[in-house]
Amino acid sequence: MNIILLGPPGAGKGTQASRLVEERNMIQLSTGDMLRAARTSGTEMGKIVADVMDRGELVTDEIVIGLIREKLEGEKAGGFIFDGFPRTLAQADALGDLLAEFGETLNAVIELQVNDEVLVERILNRAKEAVAAGGEARADDNEESLRIRLMEYYKKTSPLIGYYHAKGNLKGVDGLGEIEAVSADIAKALS
Ligand code: AMP
Repeated sequence: MNIILLGPPGAGKGTQASRLVEERNMIQLSTGDMLRAARTSGTEMGKIVADVMDRGELVTDEIVIGLIREKLEGEKAGGFIFDGFPRTLAQADALGDLLAEFGETLNAVIELQVNDEVLVERILNRAKEAVAAGGEARADDNEESLRIRLMEYYKKTSPLIGYYHAKGNLKGVDGLGEIEAVSADIAKALS
């Protein structure tokens, strides 16, 4: 089974993806994680995307589609969770083509629904917790970048809700509850 986790920053995509990896042995493909890894290892691409990411804007379709293609080429079988990808209609079309090319199908798109106040609270808490644990907050987990990330979501990513609804793949899940409750709703949506 291949699925997309769709939702604004702070909706819980990463948290729920990790649980699906543990419970169902699926493979998480997070473009955000891949881009952060490219930055940490100091690749050319990592340097190009750094400022864009810190501002909270989307990096180019070409870059993220290339990252996903590389991952799909490296895996023998599916069971993919696309986390934070696709984020634009062009990426959604490209993912459809890539899955067809690799003989895979898209089984469901889970839309995690959360209101903006909760998103801001969750993200700012995530930043505080990272610092409290002796680490560093993500450079884009601050109010200014978050405002831009939310606007990018509404302008460029939320049209995917209509796109996947029209394709018959969309399943809305209330992302406001406790982690366990959201997981249970996702399991129901996937059954
Ligand atoms: P995330 O960890 O999913 O919140 O992503 C962090 C940042 O990485 C985003 O704010 C974007 O700058 C960039 N990014 C991640 N995934 C994508 C994508 N599919 N398309 C464009 N930019 C992305």
